[in-house]
Amino acid sequence: MKANTEKKIILSAKELYKTYGKGEAAVHALNDVSLDIYEGELLAILGSSGSGKSTLLNMLGGMDKPDSGSITIGGRELSALKDRELTRYRKDDVGFVFQSFNLIAELTAKENVAMTAVAEKGGDIVTEMLELVGLGAKLDSYPTQMSGGEQQRVSIARALAKNPRLLLCDEPTGALDYETGKQILIALEKLVRDHGKTVVIVTHTQEIGRMADRVIRMRSGRIIERSVNESPVSAEIMEW
Ligand code: ADP
Ligand code: MG
Repeated sequence: MKANTEKKIILSAKELYKTYGKGEAAVHALNDVSLDIYEGELLAILGSSGSGKSTLLNMLGGMDKPDSGSITIGGRELSALKDRELTRYRKDDVGFVFQSFNLIAELTAKENVAMTAVAEKGGDIVTEMLELVGLGAKLDSYPTQMSGGEQQRVSIARALAKNPRLLLCDEPTGALDYETGKQILIALEKLVRDHGKTVVIVTHTQEIGRMADRVIRMRSGRIIERSVNESPVSAEIMEW
């Protein structure tokens, strides 16, 4: 996304706070965090372990609630949603990709993806999404018959099959070797550049910031730096 094109905010988080524990033992996992996410962008949230990245991502995805602050998406305030509506938000509006792929071992790639797929008019969204991540030939493979990178791509296809407003990825390459991790980043990049998806990647690997449209750096629960990449580096040639 070019900085001078019109950008539409799809999610806006304002003044989020989250503290774990009390008194001397209190950990300020989020300490006044505000950010916007723009439609069609690749946003990287960088920070070392313990900086609050997962806490933030879980809140954006409606999996956890801040002590205070607001998160607005599509005109709705998450904290105002009833439990049932919040469950629906998690289920329909956001896709999650985790470091651990969380596939169901007894199900094939196709069956794993079908678990979340929305019923679409015409077309087979399950096959389509698996083809999108380059797994057209592995539709009937079980997780144990696939490499780590292939399993992660199934989990990306699974997240996409519900056609979420945004895809939240928490250390998506964390459990993968360098080359495989790179393939995952190429797949995520393609989703943004060729298919207009909105992708947030949370990672402690600083270099991954180079492929993003925007970078947010966190330390000790705070955002310490925000930057825009006018010309993001393609994941293909990026090295770390
Ligand atoms: P990151 O994803 O950047 O590694 P986290 O968001 O997981 O960081 O954690 C931020 C801080 O909050 C850390 O100090 C962590 O130990 C603490 N924390 C996270 N979740 C909990 C929890 N459920 N209970 C207590 N402390 C937690
Ligand atoms: Mg984390």
